[in-house]
Amino acid sequence: MFGYGLFPESPKTNPMGPPNTVDTNERPFVLIWEVTQACDLECEHCRADAQPERHPQELSTAAGKALLREAARFDENQLVVLSGGDPLARPDIPELIEYGTDLGLRMTLTPSGTSSLDPAVIDDLDAAGLKRLAVSLDGSSPANHDTFRGEPGTFEQTVTAAEYAGEQGIPLQVNTTVSQSTVDDLPAIADLVEDLGAVLWSVFFLVPIGRGRLLEPVSPERAESVMEWLLDQAAERSFGVKTTEAPHYRRVAIEAERSAAGTPGPDDAIGRRGGVRAGDGFAFVSHTGAVYPSGFLPLAAGSVRESSLVDIYRNSELFQALRDEDRFRGKCGACSYRTVCGGSRSRAYADTGDPFESDPLCPYVPPDYEGDRPEQAVAYDRSGPAVDGHGN
Ligand code: SF4
Repeated sequence: MFGYGLFPESPKTNPMGPPNTVDTNERPFVLIWEVTQACDLECEHCRADAQPERHPQELSTAAGKALLREAARFDENQLVVLSGGDPLARPDIPELIEYGTDLGLRMTLTPSGTSSLDPAVIDDLDAAGLKRLAVSLDGSSPANHDTFRGEPGTFEQTVTAAEYAGEQGIPLQVNTTVSQSTVDDLPAIADLVEDLGAVLWSVFFLVPIGRGRLLEPVSPERAESVMEWLLDQAAERSFGVKTTEAPHYRRVAIEAERSAAGTPGPDDAIGRRGGVRAGDGFAFVSHTGAVYPSGFLPLAAGSVRESSLVDIYRNSELFQALRDEDRFRGKCGACSYRTVCGGSRSRAYADTGDPFESDPLCPYVPPDYEGDRPEQAVAYDRSGPAVDGHGN
């Protein structure tokens, strides 16, 4: 399963994404609210350029509750992810989770994995109705993870909190960033994800914004081999796998299916098969209330302080355009997989300043395509890419 969010209803995930019963023209499958940018950590990849102190213009508790009431207008089961910064830098998180739960929302949380996530706090979150806890592990050992996170001790704190959450029966998700500095550690991290009893491993392919600009992304060919390896992990492990900002995982899955069946099939048989992407099944509200298609695509379509979130999602020009694959340019625009994939609009924007351009992380080149290519994209051999293996 691929896309961006947390999917509490499904311990073992669907490789083609969220159910097609969700009309992503009408509602996001995942709504992320960045409740604060305050955080004690200085992670190498931080999208938020997190700060030690809370911003004075953060949405207040009352404004946050108004936002949750708006979220419930999408659907009473709307999935809401409270993220940061470190959301636990705000003292009102249990109150907000309880409020959202009472509205029928599925409230989930992505804390930073600092000492703020102690057993008493986890108990409070559980009592408030938390549906899933998502922790970040960017290394399989203290040395790897703590270096990435910029703070000694965070590996132990994260693992201890994850184990405690598991003992309390709170479903666990593990988030991992893929970059040159983490990619070789992925097999050991996968072992750890399984040992922790996580229901879902969310694998984020770096988008170079915020402090993430300081990290080196993997090459398109390495990304391809990692995705093929992730497909195997999804089939073999006890947990589900999804990718973040790498929707071409769906193209890799379809090609693997066709290869296994020995029936390549016509490209026009691909259709539209689930999945979410920035602005299409996914929305992000910043700590000050600005509404973005994704936390990695810094183009605001409005503010919840001035407009209805539901209206911005359904009717803003930016969100509507991002849901129209015919607006895509370059090889993503020419690609028959664009309705199931469409590329990371965030990475296209980070690379070119145009969110409708091609995703430079994808090595696939559509047959007969002769237009411009992102610098790194190379001709793709459908018979099987000669990429360096990653555990397979
Ligand atoms: S070319 Fe674009 S739409 Fe096609 S598979 Fe690659 S990222 Fe997806």
